[in-house]
Amino acid sequence: MSTQKITGGCQCGAVNYETDDEPSISGHCHCLDCKQASGAGHISATFVPREGFKVTGQTTAYSSVADSGNTIERHFCPTCGSRLFAYPANGMVGIMVGTMNNLEDYQPMFEVYTKQRCAWDNIKGDLPSFEEMPPKE
Ligand SMILES: [Zn+2]
Ligand SMILES: [Zn+2]
Repeated sequence: MSTQKITGGCQCGAVNYETDDEPSISGHCHCLDCKQASGAGHISATFVPREGFKVTGQTTAYSSVADSGNTIERHFCPTCGSRLFAYPANGMVGIMVGTMNNLEDYQPMFEVYTKQRCAWDNIKGDLPSFEEMPPKE
């Protein structure tokens, strides 16, 4: 486990974020919403508590309803379009890993929504994978 603080920002530098909290969960999501919103085959995200998450700069957000019925708010930079983070309904922040400064600290734990994974989008490694979301404990 890394104790390094997570920092990151968008491509043009107008928006930056940081948190002192450790990631609680991290993983790749293959759902169709994530594909469309990111423009990529899947997204890689890490989750931290929203309380300690600080943002500087102005983001624009788009809200959509997730499979769970909850609303998720995806934030991006209005200037460069970088997808930065999302606020799901559970009090967490999902950080888009590609915007982190310390990219190599990312430790994915699983893949979710593999029922919508594209055949060409195979992630190296043997992560536990779930057809939809992992079962709640
Ligand atoms: Zn930007
Ligand atoms: Zn997803």
